[in-house]
Amino acid sequence: MRLLVVEDDRDLNRQLVGALEQAGYAVDKAFDGEEGFFLGETEPYDAVVLDLGLPGRDGISVLSEWRKIGRKMPVLILTARDRWNDKVRGFDSGADDYVAKPFHMEEILARLRALVRRSAGLASSELACGPVRLDTKAGRVLVEGNPIKVTSHEFRLLSYLMHHTGRVISRSELVEHLYDQDFDRDSNTIEVFVGRLRKKLGVDIIQTIRGLGYLVVEPGSTPPAA
Ligand code: CA
Repeated sequence: MRLLVVEDDRDLNRQLVGALEQAGYAVDKAFDGEEGFFLGETEPYDAVVLDLGLPGRDGISVLSEWRKIGRKMPVLILTARDRWNDKVRGFDSGADDYVAKPFHMEEILARLRALVRRSAGLASSELACGPVRLDTKAGRVLVEGNPIKVTSHEFRLLSYLMHHTGRVISRSELVEHLYDQDFDRDSNTIEVFVGRLRKKLGVDIIQTIRGLGYLVVEPGSTPPAA
């Protein structure tokens, strides 16, 4: 999962990015409205944290323009406490949720998990496929109830695939959702990571669809004709 943080307060931006990276997300950051708008317009994020008071271009204008051009990613806005009209304007401009400043980082993390989950059409924070369980809250992977040790990168890969069970995901889509902007991206490494993950899981839930990408399905089911 790849997120964008748009916040002009440098300390707060750093804290947010640090906490989100720690929670296993790939994170891009912007410090003003113009840069934030551009990133959200051009990059495919799984969710965005958007401050409303930004230099250059305010958060409401950024958000309404994204929605106008059809960008649908979930957006969590950061509002000043007691500014109820900010919340109303935010929701009317296309926000999916808000957190008032000052906030607890745990609340941001929980709300983002819920937004990402809901935009994938899922009801629970624990994803399951056959004997594999992925706990997005604890950041754990279990196979038949036994915890499996995975790297943060492998976790991100499995989490993205399991949020989109039953849909073929191309390697380029994975690259776009697993790495931040500054990462030296190479879609060949995806194959290596998928291979490692398969070995660790020991069950066949990630199928390779020749020429198209990967598909997470219950073990034993047949892949769709390509
Ligand atoms: Ca601000």
